[in-house]
Amino acid sequence: ARKKPVVGRFAPSPSGPLHAGSLIAAIGSYLSARSQSGLWLLRMEDVDGDRVRPGAADTILRQLEALGLDWDGPICWQSQRHDYYQQALDHLIKEGDAYPCACTRQEIRQHGGNYPGTCRHGLAAGRTARSWRLRVPQQFPVWKDRFHGLQNTPPEQGDPVLLRADNYFAYLLACVVDDGAQGVSEVIRGGDLRTFTGVQRYLQSLLHLPRTEYGHLPLLCNADGSKLSKSSQSPAWTGSPGQGWETTLGLLGWDTPAELHGASAEQWRNWALAEARGKTPFWHPPATSVT
Ligand code: GLU
Repeated sequence: ARKKPVVGRFAPSPSGPLHAGSLIAAIGSYLSARSQSGLWLLRMEDVDGDRVRPGAADTILRQLEALGLDWDGPICWQSQRHDYYQQALDHLIKEGDAYPCACTRQEIRQHGGNYPGTCRHGLAAGRTARSWRLRVPQQFPVWKDRFHGLQNTPPEQGDPVLLRADNYFAYLLACVVDDGAQGVSEVIRGGDLRTFTGVQRYLQSLLHLPRTEYGHLPLLCNADGSKLSKSSQSPAWTGSPGQGWETTLGLLGWDTPAELHGASAEQWRNWALAEARGKTPFWHPPATSVT
């Protein structure tokens, strides 16, 4: 039997332009999928309308084009997929895996930010539902990261929210539903998302979605140790596309040939693809990687 083709993806949130950290996820996922002759899909994670910045999605597309990162098929826009997230939530509710929660942010802050499971067994009299949460089991399943091996990442702050009080679906749920709908077979992404993966795998099994392979790339930090993110206004990548490749491959732990310094994005891409082909994993964790 022929092996199923690899389907990778890049899923930026259009809350700002790509920064050095997002380049790692874009180039890393691209090289992994394409070096296995796979598809590389694009998804705009604009599910949270309050965080979307006007023009950011367009800027991201231009940045990807300049880097020579060509994607397959139509772009998936989360803002158009509300009905599918609702269907998934309805399924979880029907199976008893999601429950309504009346707690306010302030109440949860009083517990140090960790949700203590107040509404797990039903709403107290006189309280009204604000959000929906996932009922997480005591024994949380472990999972295997392609680069880092076995991982045990139960949710850090108790049963996670699936549908927020402001009526936006949570990233956790939307991402899993869409990876399933897009037929994604491998999720290669930034190390900041590693701790969410346990819940996402668990959601996949509850929603009877095919299992996805996960691999987390090194996480870039600011000088003060905080993570780079578009929402915290980390500086956009402003170097040339060729420099973007050189810097990113260096951060991925590759030895880049001096002759290629100053080369175009296309030249870098073609060189990197040839290097990556047949190498699994194509990425060798650098000693300094932060995960
Ligand atoms: N949209 C998320 C972000 O930009 C990434 C989601 C993912 O790769 O699973 O941080």
